[in-house]
Amino acid sequence: MNDPTSLHQVSNQQFQRAAELIDLKAPYRAILSEPEKEVIVNFPVILDSGEIRLFRGYRIQHNNLLGPYKGGFRFHPDVDLDEVKALAAWMTFKCSLVGLPYGGAKGGVTVDPREYSDSEIERLVRRFTHQLGDTIGPTVDIPAPDVGTNAQMMDWIMDTYANVSGPGGRQQLKGVVTGKSIECGGSVGREAATGQGVLYALRHWCGETGQRLKGLRISVQGFGNVGSHFARLAAHEGCIVVAVGDQSATFADENGLDIPALFDHARQNRALAGFDKANRIETEDLFAIPVDAFVPAALENQITKERAIDMECHVVIEAANGPTTAAGEEVLTSKGIEIIPDILANAGGVVVSYFEWLQNQSGRSWRVDDVGTRLREIIWDANDKVVAMKAQLRCSHRDAAYAVSLLRLSDVYDRRGIFP
Ligand code: NAD
Repeated sequence: MNDPTSLHQVSNQQFQRAAELIDLKAPYRAILSEPEKEVIVNFPVILDSGEIRLFRGYRIQHNNLLGPYKGGFRFHPDVDLDEVKALAAWMTFKCSLVGLPYGGAKGGVTVDPREYSDSEIERLVRRFTHQLGDTIGPTVDIPAPDVGTNAQMMDWIMDTYANVSGPGGRQQLKGVVTGKSIECGGSVGREAATGQGVLYALRHWCGETGQRLKGLRISVQGFGNVGSHFARLAAHEGCIVVAVGDQSATFADENGLDIPALFDHARQNRALAGFDKANRIETEDLFAIPVDAFVPAALENQITKERAIDMECHVVIEAANGPTTAAGEEVLTSKGIEIIPDILANAGGVVVSYFEWLQNQSGRSWRVDDVGTRLREIIWDANDKVVAMKAQLRCSHRDAAYAVSLLRLSDVYDRRGIFP
């Protein structure tokens, strides 16, 4: 199989395959194969030098059948329309799969945030938010962090939105964005939620295959929000994390890395490079290390055909969105390597974003135990449904996850009908 060069094509191929399996009605297939709305903004930012630079930003609203659009903002030099369209579609399928009252969206700016000062990034975030205007809103479309964005940026988005909105609804306005700092209306547990959900998916897979989580050998690609929290939580549960890598460096130790030390180092330095208490290896070598579980938590298209040929593991838990290419997936499947798909594995983040939004709507704060318990219930239930669907349709985990998601969307379309 040749890999399609378009990520949107990849996401469409995945959903069309499951649509075929469940015989999804043709009009629903057509609707879900394109976003409802594509917003592109070009906006100027004054740099610290006084120079004015133009940036391009996107907000793609894929579908809002189930509720307000929901999905992250990515700041990365490779952000383009095709990528954001795919990421927006995955949000629709993810929110439907885990039963949230949200549709799907994604946005971003084509920028490398590491090349700019904090004050430049603040001006960029505020101007981008302003330029999007009514495209976002607490009952319309609710962004969140993704690659290259963080809680501080979400605070600026919320503050900008609140300042240009009318005087009413100050509390509810906080819900224009999730992933904020706790002080500004964020939820306890949000920062680690995606990594926590990935760990639940791994634990569920252990249950399905009769294995113990403790002692499982794991490699993690990507050590940002998702990868670092996942590795920290997995190590805490007794997993042996034998290799981790980010854009700056890759480390391995067959007896298990000191994850708390790597976590602290990455926090302080915003990268793994410079850590001197573990063996550094070549980036490519990460894929060939024999492990039980390989967890891609960086970007899309990382598990290519060539890397898949080298991989020796029993399961890939897709913490990142779209980390496995179509050709990579074919190789993994032919080797009997199970793939727990992104729309299931990394749904923990959007689930706790939903909790944050509920807290903003009601003005009440939840305790960390409430967040943890409810997150676990929702993720566990979604994993159970996918496994049952897999047995029913005799298909892959990915196809089963899409089938659960599409059946919910189809049911709602049947009841609501197509306007007018
Ligand atoms: P992040 O910006 O915090 O971290 C990204 C990490 O990937 C960094 O460590 C970076 O160095 C690394 N990386 C980038 N390119 C790499 C490469 N070529 N090789 C190795 N490492 C590389 O981003 P994040 O929020 O952790 O997101 C990671 C993935 O998880 C993305 O696919 C994102 O869409 C997905 N995701 C994130 C969330 C969330 O809550 N943040 C939720 C669901 C899914």
